[in-house]
Amino acid sequence: MKSETNIWQKDRETLFRELECTPDGLNQAEAKRRLEKYGPNELQAGTKKSVLRIFLEQFADFLVIILILAAAVSAMLGDVESTAVILAVITLNAILGTVQTVKAAASLDSLKQMSAPTAKVVRDGQTVQIPGREVVVGDVVVLEAGDSVCADGRLLECASLKCAESALTGESLPVEKDTVEIQGEAALGDRKNMVFSGSFVTYGRARFLVTSTGMDTEMGKIATLLKTTEEKKTPLQVSLDQFGRKLSIGILAICAVLFAVSVLLRGENVMNAFLFAVALAVAAIPEALSSIVTIVLSFGTQKMARENAIIRKLQAVEGLGSVSVICSDKTGTLTQNKMTVKKLYAGGRIIDVADADFHDPVQEPLLRTALLCSDATVNESGEVGDPTETALVHLGEDHGFDEEDVRSRWPRLAELPFDSDRKLMSTVHKLSGGYAMVTKGAVDVLMDRCVISPAARAEVEQANRTFSEQGLRVLAFAMRPLERPEVTLADENGLDFLGLIAMMDPPRPESKAAVRECIAAGIRPIMITGDHKVTAAAIAKEIGILTEGTEAVEGAVIDGMSDEQLRQFVPKVSVYARVSPEHKIRIVKAWQDRGNLVAMTGDGVNDAPALKQADIGVAMGITGTEVAKDAAGMVLADDNFATIVQAVKNGRNVYANIKRSIQFLLSGNAAGILTVLYASLLALPVPFAAVHLLFINLLTDSLPAIALGLEPHSDAVMREKPRQRSEGILTRPFLISVAVDGVIIAAATILAFHLGLSAGGAAVGSTMAFATLCLSRLFHGFSCKSGRPVLFTRAFWNNRFLLGAFVLGAVLLTAVLTVPVLEPLFQVAPLTMGQLGTVAGLSLGSMVLIQLRKLIRKG
Ligand code: ATP
Repeated sequence: MKSETNIWQKDRETLFRELECTPDGLNQAEAKRRLEKYGPNELQAGTKKSVLRIFLEQFADFLVIILILAAAVSAMLGDVESTAVILAVITLNAILGTVQTVKAAASLDSLKQMSAPTAKVVRDGQTVQIPGREVVVGDVVVLEAGDSVCADGRLLECASLKCAESALTGESLPVEKDTVEIQGEAALGDRKNMVFSGSFVTYGRARFLVTSTGMDTEMGKIATLLKTTEEKKTPLQVSLDQFGRKLSIGILAICAVLFAVSVLLRGENVMNAFLFAVALAVAAIPEALSSIVTIVLSFGTQKMARENAIIRKLQAVEGLGSVSVICSDKTGTLTQNKMTVKKLYAGGRIIDVADADFHDPVQEPLLRTALLCSDATVNESGEVGDPTETALVHLGEDHGFDEEDVRSRWPRLAELPFDSDRKLMSTVHKLSGGYAMVTKGAVDVLMDRCVISPAARAEVEQANRTFSEQGLRVLAFAMRPLERPEVTLADENGLDFLGLIAMMDPPRPESKAAVRECIAAGIRPIMITGDHKVTAAAIAKEIGILTEGTEAVEGAVIDGMSDEQLRQFVPKVSVYARVSPEHKIRIVKAWQDRGNLVAMTGDGVNDAPALKQADIGVAMGITGTEVAKDAAGMVLADDNFATIVQAVKNGRNVYANIKRSIQFLLSGNAAGILTVLYASLLALPVPFAAVHLLFINLLTDSLPAIALGLEPHSDAVMREKPRQRSEGILTRPFLISVAVDGVIIAAATILAFHLGLSAGGAAVGSTMAFATLCLSRLFHGFSCKSGRPVLFTRAFWNNRFLLGAFVLGAVLLTAVLTVPVLEPLFQVAPLTMGQLGTVAGLSLGSMVLIQLRKLIRKG
């Protein structure tokens, strides 16, 4: 369903008639019918890759192409067995690659769904939150600062609405909106009475009537031209790709030299030498490096999503592992965001909420203001709105005042919505013959706007201090007469003070333990809040963020500091109160300049720049605005600080697992190439046939490497200091350890080769070398589990994927070695029981030696 063009020119009645809807919104049944009939409100930009395409892409690899060529050549030479084996290996590899890619893509897709935007629509007369994709034409949508606009529509009501439309019009500044009718043609940017899908509300509130959704929106019209942006590679993938490329060139050079030596000096058959060189390249080049990272990261994101941390950018998982500073909001993240009013201050005295009497003429205006100057509602279907405001509504209800009654008696005529920079909110009503503006907000800000004697102000400030020291969040209330039913920011002055309301927002029970874990893991937790300094400090002390030797300051103290001064200052501060979004950016930068990797939470529209500046921007899933979510790398489904700490733990574990996989891949490949080089230098027969290398590559490369990437996560990672942000995986000690493991496995393989050579000639030698390399690599998977010895510990058995990969590899190897029909196919010679025992002994021995090395190094 779609209204005709020039919606901005039509009068509303025509629009309602054409779209068959009312200003009170659709009913659920009709909305459901429209959703089914016209489809979901989403942009189907670009094309999603089909499984077939992913499968075919697996063949677009340099080495695979060479292998296909090799298969073609051996087919022409009539070598049916080699051809069959090579083709089987290529196909199996491609299937494995496809399954992994499809799974990784599916898990990333489901993550995207989880952080997809929602919309507040009016259905059956009630405001309800629904997924943005379920919005239909005819819906009335409620907009607030920070919301993303999910469909195109005509404004019905609007209070100081400003929208950022840069995605559509390229205009970088937010555009002011209005409900006025516009005559004649108007460019997109000039249609002030309309809002567009793909834009964000930066300020104000509004309601609009949806006139088009999905591909019918202005964004949809451009979206057909857009392609889906591919997930960018993470820094780790980029550095591994670079390393892999250099390594590949080196290996290809070695293979080329070996090929030349075999043909020119040893007079071997060109085709065989070529096939061997290709197989060696395939076996030695760790082509799985970067894809292993994607797979492990995407498995990591699934675990994190189950634990309420929804990753929006794959880079975030990697970065989480080396986070060394977490800057967190207080309200709702460290605390429960469940506000209950505890105390009042009115008529010069502190009153316990239980003793409040709102029929008293001194206390009554305070409650009335609280109910009028608030957007929250509480009804049978639950609470809607900011918890600070729902606490006020509950206060009224507990004392027999219904917010709807009060609001219908004194309807709202104009408003200045709350924003956390101004820290105030005002509404205008018709009161006792004239107009009045009622205002609520932060005590320090509001007191500066009130006309009050110094003595009375000192008393209010004393009451505020008393409340704040108990960790209570305090709001001040005031009012003034107005001459007209309109309001500007300048009117928020010359106010009459009415009183204070103090509410409790208890810390989350898990915050204390999470803070402790953070500190033990070498991570500095910092509270950054819009709330009052004394309130923030009281809560921070209770949960362990504000410790001996560190202090709580107001954001304003950093205003006069140079960047260098701030860099020196930040380590001393654990709590920043009354911060502005600019302060947040400067604090993050200062910590980054000190070499830290910083995670920063945020929820408001203005937090987006700070979230982008932080290495890991963390947005609140429940209370966060869509703008904040859009800017963040991670979204907390439960808004909980403890979830960030858990995500860091997962990030560290994921990183450790990637390291395990890489250690396994590189050391095993090194062993293969060392053995071949050794044989070549000593002019011995070739230790492996091409099919051996392909078999090893298929069975002992990818599967155990992926299994190692799925090692169970451990708490031990949180007992270490964070990894330096500049430290890559391929450090010197890491590469040395890869080389040593490679040499030990190569030594076992070479020994087996010699034993075979002397007992039964080249065929037996090559069979024993192949079997030993294969089995040693399977055993080596267990050694890569930890930097410490794992033999004879429970940790040896705790990864069922690795056990599975080992068993599968061992069974298939045994089959190749013992089933006579497979002998010609895999070019193996029959081995005696003694020789089989030697293979098993040497392979096991290589693992024991590597374990001993770990024992000595750790001891
Ligand atoms: P955090 O940054 O940790 O989430 P916060 O919720 O206190 O803390 P803001 O929402 O920026 O931060 O609020 C700043 C101050 O504005 C509060 O301390 C309070 O005094 C005042 N305030 C909060 N909500 C409202 C509101 N709905 N109306 C008026 N004033 C408010």
